[in-house]
Amino acid sequence: MLNQRQFDFRTAMNPPKKGNPMDVHCTTCGEPWDVYHLRHDAIFETDLTHAEAKAWTELSPALRLNPRYRDKFKAAGYEFGGSIMNVLRCPGCPKGAKPDPDQAAMKAGIVEILGDDEDGIAAIFEDQGL
Ligand SMILES: [Zn+2]
Repeated sequence: MLNQRQFDFRTAMNPPKKGNPMDVHCTTCGEPWDVYHLRHDAIFETDLTHAEAKAWTELSPALRLNPRYRDKFKAAGYEFGGSIMNVLRCPGCPKGAKPDPDQAAMKAGIVEILGDDEDGIAAIFEDQGL
């Protein structure tokens, strides 16, 4: 679980850098993923129609990870934790590789605290090299 020190870190931080590319890393293979790609482009790698994929980008963070979309992402090689910012597995993962348990727990804790605040999650992940 996250302790108070980690939570204070966020409030002490400047607001997330808008417009700057931010990367988060796959928990399994460490591959960096551009936050913009995860939010806007990865969905088009699934077999959803273009219209469906476009509609997905407008959904709330919770709806974007409903079971139907999780299945679609999984088929395309992506698995997410509680947020689209939390990449547990990606198309670059070696077959059979497992997520790093410590990193997975750390990331899950951060997502739990920040909830729908994707910018905040991405900023902390990037800062922590997660
Ligand atoms: Zn990966």
